[in-house]
This record gives sequence, structure tokens and C-alpha cells, in this order.
Amino acid sequence: MVTELLDDVWWFDLRGVNAYLAEDDGTVTLIDAGTPISRRPLARELRELGYVFEDIDRVLVTHYDVDHVGTLNRIDAPVYAGAIDAPLVAGDRTPNWRTRKGFTQRLAAPFCPTPDGPVQSVGDGDTIGSFTIHHTPGHTPGHVAYVSEALSVAFVGDLVRESDGNLVASPWLVSDDVGQVRSSIEELASELPAVEALAMGHGIPFNRAGHDRLRELAGRL
Ligand SMILES: [Zn+2]
Repeated sequence: MVTELLDDVWWFDLRGVNAYLAEDDGTVTLIDAGTPISRRPLARELRELGYVFEDIDRVLVTHYDVDHVGTLNRIDAPVYAGAIDAPLVAGDRTPNWRTRKGFTQRLAAPFCPTPDGPVQSVGDGDTIGSFTIHHTPGHTPGHVAYVSEALSVAFVGDLVRESDGNLVASPWLVSDDVGQVRSSIEELASELPAVEALAMGHGIPFNRAGHDRLRELAGRL
């Protein structure tokens, strides 16, 4: 089901993982791309808004994990990802199996489709349309958040998640480095403009006072 979070920002609940659509100054932007079995639900959500896959102008990927890159081979549009994760998304590098996170990524790698086109790497402070990129390592080394003050939304991927109405940090089990998760939350909370929506990869996104929720969490860590 599609839920409108704010004007021009929609939440796609793809059964266990979220993706989002934003109309950024007329540009149809998909944020994260679900799992390899999300193609049909994603197509249905797009259709509800009057779109098909071909209408997507760009995809902003928060990080390399199978539940965020699963339909990239279905989308013919530029893909953006954080500099460290981008070669993994592109299929140019394999995950480092010597780290706990890398090992799980390595196991899932055969299920991660690679996009047909190039993957453009983005770094801290870069901008794409109205979005500013914040490097937020911890869940994965190359994890990034995409923040648009104009749309009043922060797409924060798996840096945080919502659970029973609470905002929590990315848990140890699925994180590369929980110390980095904590410092990334603190840094993003201090840099974030006063956006309303906080849109994460798992759980129910907040469409009001998102900035305050993140600051509260940073204060609790
Ligand atoms: Zn995820």
C-alpha cells in the first residue's frame, strides 16, 4: 500500500522493507529498491501513483544489502550509492567475508542483481537535486542518508529503525560497526535541518518532527 508521507513523498511498504518515492522538482526519484522478490509489489505501488518502472528518473541507494538493491536490474535509470558501497552495488567488488557484516553480504550476494547502467558514487556533502548526502557509516561502511530540506525529509536507510513506535539504532546483529552507528546518528542529528519526515528502511516512518526524534535518540545513546 502506498502512503503519502508529505507532499511529493510516498512510502512503499514492501513487506518487511521500505522504499520511497519522491518527486523532486519534477524528477521521479526512488529511494532504495527492495528485495529481489519486490518487483511485483513495487510495480503495484508505482501503478497506484500512475507510474511504471520506466518513469523512474534516478535511484538513490542508502546502502548495499539485498533488501535495498533487489530490483535494480528492473530499473533503467542512474543509480547512486555511497562511495564505499557503490562498487558492491555495481558488482565490481565482492563483500569482504572476513568481517561479520561482509560475510552475511557475501552469502546474499548471489541474490543481489546488478544494475545494467553505471552506479555513481556519492560522498559526504554532495548534492543530487534537492538532496544532500550524509555519509553515515556503521550499518555498512558506505551507508549514506539523503536529506532534502525542500521536501522536508531525511531518508536514513538502516542507520535507524522504528520498532513499536520507538526509534532505535541499527542493531548489533545486522551492523558492521555499532560504535560507528552511534557516532553517525549523533553527527546526523547535529547536522540535520528541521525536517518533518524521518524515513527509514524498516518500521513505520515518521511524518512529523522527524528531526526531533533523531535528536532524542542521539541523546539516549
Ligand atoms: Zn535493510
